[in-house]
Amino acid sequence: MQNSDVVKVVLYARVSSKDQEKEGFSIPAQLELLRGYASKNNMIILQEYEDVETAKCQGRTKFNEMVKFLKNSKDCKTIIVEKTDRLYRNLPDYITLDNMPLSIHFVKEGCTISPESHSSEKFMHLIKVAMARQYIQNLGEEVKKGLKQKAKEGYVTGKQPYGYKKIDKRACVIDEVTALYVKRAFELYSKGDVSLRALGNKLYQEGLIYKQNQNIAHKTQLEHILKNPFYYGVISFMGEIYEGKHEPLITKELFDLTQLAFRKDNKPKHMIAKNFLFAGMIKCSKCGCNLSGEIKKGKYIYYSCTGAKGECEQQHIYIKEETIEKQLIQALSKISITSEHKNWISSVLAESFKDEQKYAKEHINSLNKQKQKLRERIDNIYIDKLDGKISEEFWMDKHNKWTQDLLTIQNNITAYEKANINFIETGTKFLKICNEIVDLYKIADNNEKRELLNYVLQNLSMDGEKLSYTYKPPFNIFAKGLSCNKKLPRLDSNQQPTG
Ligand SMILES: [Zn+2]
Repeated sequence: MQNSDVVKVVLYARVSSKDQEKEGFSIPAQLELLRGYASKNNMIILQEYEDVETAKCQGRTKFNEMVKFLKNSKDCKTIIVEKTDRLYRNLPDYITLDNMPLSIHFVKEGCTISPESHSSEKFMHLIKVAMARQYIQNLGEEVKKGLKQKAKEGYVTGKQPYGYKKIDKRACVIDEVTALYVKRAFELYSKGDVSLRALGNKLYQEGLIYKQNQNIAHKTQLEHILKNPFYYGVISFMGEIYEGKHEPLITKELFDLTQLAFRKDNKPKHMIAKNFLFAGMIKCSKCGCNLSGEIKKGKYIYYSCTGAKGECEQQHIYIKEETIEKQLIQALSKISITSEHKNWISSVLAESFKDEQKYAKEHINSLNKQKQKLRERIDNIYIDKLDGKISEEFWMDKHNKWTQDLLTIQNNITAYEKANINFIETGTKFLKICNEIVDLYKIADNNEKRELLNYVLQNLSMDGEKLSYTYKPPFNIFAKGLSCNKKLPRLDSNQQPTG
């Protein structure tokens, strides 16, 4: 920017819902604002990018195009965008842009982030990024809760398993044709003397065909079947087991025998590795391979370099899981948020998510209208039935379909309402979590532990028994214990504390 009067820029606009786009105010309004800003500041617009997206759809084609354009461009290093949460959906988005020498103007927020920005500005910025992601997660969780409810009631949550067929949106019954295949697969495999690959062939030799266009099931398909507790009459959802409403195909005993057989079978190494807490998370500092876990002396878990890229000097160094975990807990324990941070963040959040809430409100309104319409339809068709205008069957068919639709709409409304309330709570919770992160880690299960670590830390690598890592934004700032005072020294994004 120093020597030329004219700055070359790109514009980026995004709406988070197709409805908003249809109503036709959001993207044009954003672009108009951005164009006005550019012309007032004597900037030349080289490209305009716009993404229309829903809360659940992650695809951001124009965002990626823009990143590509900026990477290739020699003299355009500036993005103009309305607000923080228009630009980033999540931390990876942020990291992508943060790794490039860019200036980003947030027009509505009246701030510009560049490699020379003050730490306080960057800090505020990072909080917003983290919270944008939190919002999406909330929405996802509410949807999950709906599914969980379904599982609790004993219904399958997604597609019905192989061996069954669906009779309506919720219930499914045994499919006599494919059920034979499943039963025989369990019987053969539970004996423990056959590999998955051999099992596929054996079934075929016995005259059992997997699918019309695929005679032999692939071993991953077989594994999927043989590990699914659905077949003995339960629903497994998010690690919990619920009693199913469907008729079982096999007994619990046969299922348990089959699981035992899995331990005997020669599974590929990576399948085993995935069950260890830190498998695939930490790299060897010497050769860059992932560390993998194994059990020694029957109970101790050790990690070592796999040497997959060729002979490695650390290949024979075995590190106890506790040794690694201790260092990770230490990393987490460095994160803390002061009351000064808290006040500031709260005010930033309230301002930043006004729009998201407005959108949710509008969406709920439109869903309520749909609901009303369906109710009327259901009432009307009932009258038609009473009047003898339509047959009993036709009525039943429509009635069932619309009642089901009504349920779906109601679930969506609930999800949005909860996400909204949760969002405000989450803001406060997020701060609380940061201060209780170690305690949270300790009570988490392995999956949650991995998720938590992945949320906070990156670049994990092992040199001998010493773990090194960096914090993901915004935790790099919390971990440093920086104040949000404006007079702070400048924060270089490379100066992240390491372990
Ligand atoms: Zn290595």
